[in-house]
Amino acid sequence: MKVGIVGLGLIGGSLGLALRSHGHTVLGVSRQSHTCRRAIDRGAVDDASLDHSLMHATDVVFLCTPLAVMQATVVELVPHLAAETVLTDVGSVKGWVVETIAPLWANFVGGHPMAGTAESGIEAALPDLFTHAPYVLTPTETTPARAVQLVEALVQPLQTQIYHCHPDDHDRAVAWISHLPVMTSASLIAACIGEANPTVLELAHALASSGFRDTSRVGGGNPELGVMMARYNQAALTRSLHAYRNTLDQVITHIEHSDWRSLEALLKQTQQARSDFL
Ligand code: NAP
Repeated sequence: MKVGIVGLGLIGGSLGLALRSHGHTVLGVSRQSHTCRRAIDRGAVDDASLDHSLMHATDVVFLCTPLAVMQATVVELVPHLAAETVLTDVGSVKGWVVETIAPLWANFVGGHPMAGTAESGIEAALPDLFTHAPYVLTPTETTPARAVQLVEALVQPLQTQIYHCHPDDHDRAVAWISHLPVMTSASLIAACIGEANPTVLELAHALASSGFRDTSRVGGGNPELGVMMARYNQAALTRSLHAYRNTLDQVITHIEHSDWRSLEALLKQTQQARSDFL
């Protein structure tokens, strides 16, 4: 197929590398000419341009820009697309994206590959980023079946695991497993650095090891991405944060009241439940 990618960063570049290795022709559009040149040099695209007209003869276009510019990008892009071209996106939030983009292009299906790294930009792109990763598609009642089939025909051979769900269910689920962990991990770091005693803080810096590395990892990532999660998934994230705060209050109560039996019951429950997620 002839595939278009708009936004040649970590996700767009990785998709290009993977799709080209499966024999597809990949054309890219990005914001900076330097990125376009690097995408060609790295083999992520057959050709790239700053001009959306390069997308005119594509079968499927993947929108891989940051969430904040997706709507404006689609407005610029659609005059260049053939009516039968399928448009999909890779945004980490689906309710807002589907509500905003579906009215602009009938052949649209929302998507979200659940893979990433702490890096960004074309240099960070990896050919096997999506291997064995979940790939969520969020068709609605108005999404043409052909749009879903074409996107699946491209991403399934990359050894992704495809899931279909409603955009709002997607957003509630990723609030729990992706967006809430970023906020709680960031809050953990923020609370630690609030330690008023400099000797204790210095000692904590020196002693931090694997436990702190694991629990602080997602809170020490790209601030822009964290703000995007909160901004575009505000309702679901707020709901999860309130539920998390209630659970934290329960833990505090158990500890303050030396209620070790209740604390142990909770920790036993979480020890068992963790394996259902991973
Ligand atoms: P990224 O590495 O920063 O790449 C985004 C690219 O978009 C940049 O390289 C930039 O290209 C380009 N861009 C920015 N504004 C543009 C515009 N107006 N027109 C065309 N291109 C533009 O970010 P990313 O991590 O790939 O994220 C891209 C999308 O994937 C986001 O919507 C995000 O929600 C989603 N996502 C991210 C992850 C993750 O873990 N990172 C995982 C799943 C989904 P230039 O270099 O040319 O400026």
